[in-house]
Amino acid sequence: MEKKQIQLSVPNLNMDIVDNLRECIETGWISTGGRFITEFEQKIAKYVGLKDAVSAQSGTAGLHVALRILGVKSGEEVIVPTLTFVAAVNPVKYLGAEPIFMDCDDSLCMDAVKLEKFCREECELDEKGLVNKKTGKRVAVIIVVHIFGNLAKMEQVMDIAAKYRLKVLEDATEALGSYYTTGRYAGKFSGTISDMGVYSFNANKIITTGGGGMIVSNNQDYLDQARYLTITAKNTTPEDALYFVHGEVGYNYRMLNLQAALGVSQMDQLESFIQTKMSNYELYKKELSDVNGITILPFESGIRANHWFYSLYIDENGFGESRDDLMHRLIDRGIQCRPIWKLIHILDPYKDAQSYQVEKAIDYADHILNVPCSTNLSAEDVKYVCEQIKLR
Ligand SMILES: *Cc1c(COP(=O)(O)O)cnc(C)c1O
Repeated sequence: MEKKQIQLSVPNLNMDIVDNLRECIETGWISTGGRFITEFEQKIAKYVGLKDAVSAQSGTAGLHVALRILGVKSGEEVIVPTLTFVAAVNPVKYLGAEPIFMDCDDSLCMDAVKLEKFCREECELDEKGLVNKKTGKRVAVIIVVHIFGNLAKMEQVMDIAAKYRLKVLEDATEALGSYYTTGRYAGKFSGTISDMGVYSFNANKIITTGGGGMIVSNNQDYLDQARYLTITAKNTTPEDALYFVHGEVGYNYRMLNLQAALGVSQMDQLESFIQTKMSNYELYKKELSDVNGITILPFESGIRANHWFYSLYIDENGFGESRDDLMHRLIDRGIQCRPIWKLIHILDPYKDAQSYQVEKAIDYADHILNVPCSTNLSAEDVKYVCEQIKLR
């Protein structure tokens, strides 16, 4: 018998995408122009309650452009989380700036208490803005990541940002569809609360365009800049366009019509994907409730989380097997799973960067296992994974 294979997080594509792709091919609109791009931008904007959105080749590209628009300059500093995917931090370096790594709280998102403490005790406000006392450099932006579809404590983060005159960029690449249900931001979607937000449509995200990203903001001027920078900063008046007049050093970052052709179809499925993610999460929780030493990490209360990724916290003492032993055992049985990311502040390219009181993130990095969560995962698959976890 062939061994059952269950993957971690795979695309779930509807065949109507084929019609969209056929249209791209037949009309020749396969590149950075075409109706699907504007349609997809509008669809995302409408879904998250905004007027406009700007597409990009990837989430990373979107973060790069957004960070530049928020004014990060070479030699400045940006506050970032250490427990996240490295693409949330790399754009800081692309701009010649330096990251300062922060700890997480139990939501896995940035610890807002330590963030405030860092700003208050390690920095001072002057006419340039917030200055890091140790380096004398300006701290320009906070990048907050909504980890696995959970939402960061944005009320606190936005208060801190206002008090210390920092801009905020939300890396919402994992959290499309998550929104607050209570509090100051009730009804507001991830990515739409701060100065700018970015989504990703990489193949393992909740919806996919193969690769792609979207920049959102309440500030139309920022979006206009983003739209300009992503098309090599080419001026769009007919005369300038004809003669190739570029006003800045821009990027070739606009999404392809081919990618957007997938996106407009995937958007129609987003809500049903979230429902599947939620019910599979509840099933994991139920099936694993009687297992000593394994806890499925909760999503925050007061939010509707998209439940993108599920995190099991493995306590070796209770479970009798380490996170890594369990992981290798499951992989051997055809169940793809993975440890949460290695902390970024210990990776080679970042090991000399500043970090601030990182404690919780170390513990989570050592104990979290991410288990299959695709939107085409059946209840039977979830039960099978849980059985295999228990069957030693
Ligand atoms: C996926 C992801 C990105 C990057 O998105 P791409 O579209 O793959 O470039 C950035 N940050 C986080 C936290 C991510 O999970």
